[in-house]
Amino acid sequence: MATLDLDLFQCRTDNFGVLIHDPASGATASIDAPEEAPILDALARRGWTLTHIFTTHHHQDHVAANLALKDRFGATIIGPVHEADKIPGLDRKVGDGDQFDFAGHPVNVFETPGHTAGHICFFLPQDKLLFAADTLFALGCGRLFEGTPADMWASLRKLMSLPDDTAVYFGHEYTLTNARFSLTIDPANAALVQRVADIEALRASGGFTAPTTIGVERQTNPFLRPHDAGIRAHLGMQAATDDEVFAEIRKRKDHF
Ligand SMILES: [Zn+2]
Repeated sequence: MATLDLDLFQCRTDNFGVLIHDPASGATASIDAPEEAPILDALARRGWTLTHIFTTHHHQDHVAANLALKDRFGATIIGPVHEADKIPGLDRKVGDGDQFDFAGHPVNVFETPGHTAGHICFFLPQDKLLFAADTLFALGCGRLFEGTPADMWASLRKLMSLPDDTAVYFGHEYTLTNARFSLTIDPANAALVQRVADIEALRASGGFTAPTTIGVERQTNPFLRPHDAGIRAHLGMQAATDDEVFAEIRKRKDHF
């Protein structure tokens, strides 16, 4: 199996666009479709032709270019079964545990409710690639527009069960703000302190913070660490459940 080529670029103000491309077949998928022009630019720069769009959730900044790209390329749109009526141009509905084939690469679907009720993530186990959109960010997680903290914590636990060396692409370049917030929750975590310094330098030079990995997030992302003794002590929540600690961290981020 050939390796997939991948192209990462900015859309709108802080959305990531991502294309994955199988050189042997020419198949090319856009992970979400935040904005038409930058996606067309990336395709042209690479000489790729769009064949698929993998839609993670219904928010406008993830589906805005679905119909224009489908018109132009006849691309097949694969997206969340539980938001099917809100996904423009949806061809194929997928849900939790489904697997489909992208040019010989298996793609597993996880439902990760919390940010939206039907949000899905796409995991390519052979390629060790996760497209987490607005569920898991570098040092953050999505806001809870359509779910409870318990929903999101269960969703994040699913993603945490993936191998540590899984590369994680996510929906937004929010990492600098997330980094500064993380230090207010887990200030004694040496790996986090070092990572925040690295992120400050990377963003100062205009670099993207995607991808991250599951392993790095498990070590440093406070939203994946409600069980951590240091975080619990810092929050004065030693006797709380993981759900309660997670909810407190999410609430603090909403007001950060
Ligand atoms: Zn969203």
